[in-house]
Amino acid sequence: MKEIVNFIKKNGIGQLKQDVNLKNYTTYKVGGTAKVLVYPKDVNKLILLLEKLNKENVNYKVLGFGSNVIFSDKTYDGVLIKLDCFDDVKINDTVITAGAGVSLVKLSYAALKAGLTGLEFASGIPGSVGGAVFMNAGAYKSDMGYIVSEIKVLTPELEVKTLYNKDLNYKYRSSFLKHNPNYICLEATIVLRHGDKALIKELMETRRQKRLMTQPLEYPSAGSVFRNPEGEFAGKLIEDCKLKGFNIGGAKVSEKHANFIINSGNAKASDVRNLIMYVHDTVKDKTGYDLKIEQEFVNWE
Ligand SMILES: Cc1cc2nc3c(=O)[nH]c(=O)nc-3n(C[C@H](O)[C@H](O)[C@H](O)COP(=O)(O)OP(=O)(O)OC[C@H]3O[C@@H](n4cnc5c(N)ncnc54)[C@H](O)[C@@H]3O)c2cc1C
Repeated sequence: MKEIVNFIKKNGIGQLKQDVNLKNYTTYKVGGTAKVLVYPKDVNKLILLLEKLNKENVNYKVLGFGSNVIFSDKTYDGVLIKLDCFDDVKINDTVITAGAGVSLVKLSYAALKAGLTGLEFASGIPGSVGGAVFMNAGAYKSDMGYIVSEIKVLTPELEVKTLYNKDLNYKYRSSFLKHNPNYICLEATIVLRHGDKALIKELMETRRQKRLMTQPLEYPSAGSVFRNPEGEFAGKLIEDCKLKGFNIGGAKVSEKHANFIINSGNAKASDVRNLIMYVHDTVKDKTGYDLKIEQEFVNWE
């Protein structure tokens, strides 16, 4: 890793941090350390870095805002790449182009300011544009698949390419990128509609209040743990199994929303994982539903 660190410094790839505590980069606030975290300045620096990592066979992963990942308590012996410098936002009539590192929440407020409707669903999703495009983040019967017209990606061959909505194979919390994690989203183009600013604001505010009332936002979490099965609510199934408030170490099934697991204090990543598995198995035994986990485990093997 020393050679990689020197390479990053020598080639001015971007801000570099070493031995970072992953608690500070994930919304669950759990996980071990990562050897290297780097913020490439632009796409050319990103390509240069990836060429080196591929050549040296070094593990890497793009990290958005860490709101859908669970790193293990072990050291991540690789390079985490954060695209915070990809932060351009351009609004042209109803079309927004936003870098992968832009906050989805901030983008939804920029859309409101421009009087554009269609992104209200995203105003409570604490991810980056790249992370949202990757997992087709959504809420209130809408998702990125409805509004993304195209994205700019870096392919595994390190070529910059445009993928259109039809190429992205958007489904419920799933996309082409999710199945092809070697593609990196650099930028997304979103098409919205002109709307009434007051109505957009009201809708966002109503939903914000609803989230505050129904979700344990005062604790670290990564949002809903399980996908809702067809015609059912994961939260209701978990509640029916009397698991609300159940805990393993510092990880606890929220009393407020059973499909949230919260870090109630000093949870370890293993507490969170063990609790997720326990809830999954209990629901399966008692109801027959094989709940699908929405969050991603990283560095567990
Ligand atoms: C309180 C709370 C509420 C939430 N509510 C919702 C909700 O209503 N709806 C919903 O869908 N989700 C929700 N989430 C989950 C989460 O915010 C979303 O899944 C979000 O899209 C994840 O984005 P991120 O930037 O944090 O991605 P990360 O968690 O950092 O990464 C997730 C995956 O995306 C990949 N990735 C990230 N950026 C890129 C990129 N540029 N190119 C390629 N791959 C990339 C990562 O490698 C990783 O595999 C919630 C989370 C919290 C904490």
